[in-house]
Amino acid sequence: MRYSNLDSWVEPDANDCWIWLGPLNEDGYGVTSYNTAHVAAYITWVGPIPPGMEVHHKCEVRNCLNPDHLEAVTHQDNTRYSRGWTKKGDVWFCKFKHEMTFENTRWKGRFVECRECHNERKRQSRR
Ligand SMILES: [Zn+2]
Ligand SMILES: [Zn+2]
Repeated sequence: MRYSNLDSWVEPDANDCWIWLGPLNEDGYGVTSYNTAHVAAYITWVGPIPPGMEVHHKCEVRNCLNPDHLEAVTHQDNTRYSRGWTKKGDVWFCKFKHEMTFENTRWKGRFVECRECHNERKRQSRR
């Protein structure tokens, strides 16, 4: 669903984030009558969300609607972003900036973990 007057519901801040002025849900995301506000913004100003993709905030501001700060990513990528990981080109980094090479990635079922962080935690707990 596209909205015709969405821009009257946002106010730019100093970081060029377009802050949603409407209601927020318990997670801090803006909500409209149909979608979360950033999803509505993506659909309205960027286009349809590709199947299986989710809208990610590159700026990490959950109630920001600036289409330049929004990106359609896979659910898997969105989960990684939500754990503090970052992506540069095709390379992922964990939140402690370890490069997530194939060797450095631990898989526990569908759960991905940084091997270097995991080893660090093990060292800590042994003390
Ligand atoms: Zn933003
Ligand atoms: Zn790490």
